[in-house]
Amino acid sequence: MYTPPSVKTDLAKMPIPDRYRAWVLGDPEQLILTDKPTPVPHRAEVLVRIDAVAICATDLDVIKSGPPAMIQGGPPFNKNWTPGHEYMGTVAALGPGVDEFAIGDRVTVEIHAGCGQCKRCRMGMYTSCLNYGLNYGEVDKGHRANGFTSQGGFAEYAINNINTLIKIADTMSDEEATLVVTAGTSMYGLTELGGLVAGESVVVTGPGPIGLLGVAVAKALGAYPVILTGTRDARLEKGRQLGADHVVNVTREDPVEAVRRFNGGKGVDYVVECSGAPGAITAAAKMCNRGGKICLAAFPHAPDIVDIGHIVRNNIYLYGIRGEGKSATHRAEAFMRTKRFDATLIHTHTFMLEELPEAIRYARDRVEDAIKVVVKMRR
Ligand SMILES: [Zn+2]
Ligand SMILES: [Zn+2]
Repeated sequence: MYTPPSVKTDLAKMPIPDRYRAWVLGDPEQLILTDKPTPVPHRAEVLVRIDAVAICATDLDVIKSGPPAMIQGGPPFNKNWTPGHEYMGTVAALGPGVDEFAIGDRVTVEIHAGCGQCKRCRMGMYTSCLNYGLNYGEVDKGHRANGFTSQGGFAEYAINNINTLIKIADTMSDEEATLVVTAGTSMYGLTELGGLVAGESVVVTGPGPIGLLGVAVAKALGAYPVILTGTRDARLEKGRQLGADHVVNVTREDPVEAVRRFNGGKGVDYVVECSGAPGAITAAAKMCNRGGKICLAAFPHAPDIVDIGHIVRNNIYLYGIRGEGKSATHRAEAFMRTKRFDATLIHTHTFMLEELPEAIRYARDRVEDAIKVVVKMRR
């Protein structure tokens, strides 16, 4: 029976086992289904019963090569550590003093709690915490990034700081709720560009999950026109359904020329670069008007050559953004709650927890045109 001291439970309403099923990372690419003792929430924390988790491209990178995950100051392999970060669930137990949430609340979670005490955390930039990964031994600053520096969501339970929780409406399905943090990342990008003004023009390059929801968020914020570029027609069609006014298949036409044509011969105010492709930054700069702004939201796998002279001569701003800071996830959830866009258009496949390796194969190899693959914990 799970009855840790000072922790509030309601075992009649929300039974909690002593141990729970969790996938852990062994060697690179090796996932093992095991069980762990159910963890105990401390001050400002709750125990979340995970109901669903989406697979992200970053999970695939972490499972294959480690970074950006960092456990106890090093690579995440063979540390009994569970990856996965795009999860939602139900509040199952409350740490001491927690009255912001009740047992039984349905919540979706942000990834980063940050340390809460460094300069960046104090600015709301908790995804860029200066104490990233410091949450162990004598360097315990309390930093938490679920599935990156602390235990993640390919499991039945997780501990979450209350700062990372967002209550969700009963009308939102578990699957849709796993997509809130992705929409929140797109929202954070637009926030960091200075906040979109209605009627400003936006290009999104790269129709992955963040790019597709970037189209949806930009449209919901009042952008016009919203132009999406990519290589696959099926993904571009999803972008249209999510609000793109124009789409450009870069295998068939020059995206810089097409963007200028669609925006009356002028460049656009903002580019949200979600492709990570070689040459993408220079192309984005040439899509911008003078003084335009570029948000870099992809993690390219190699350094790139950039036409810096063009960027300087045209006073173009570059912003690297990481994750979902400044409570952007709350704003994204409000859009989804009020049906300003249908994020479920990018959810393509569902698997059960014990099928995680197959779910990862679908996400990695884009089997059957998979976009977002969701794993559920119970039938
Ligand atoms: Zn992610
Ligand atoms: Zn911090």
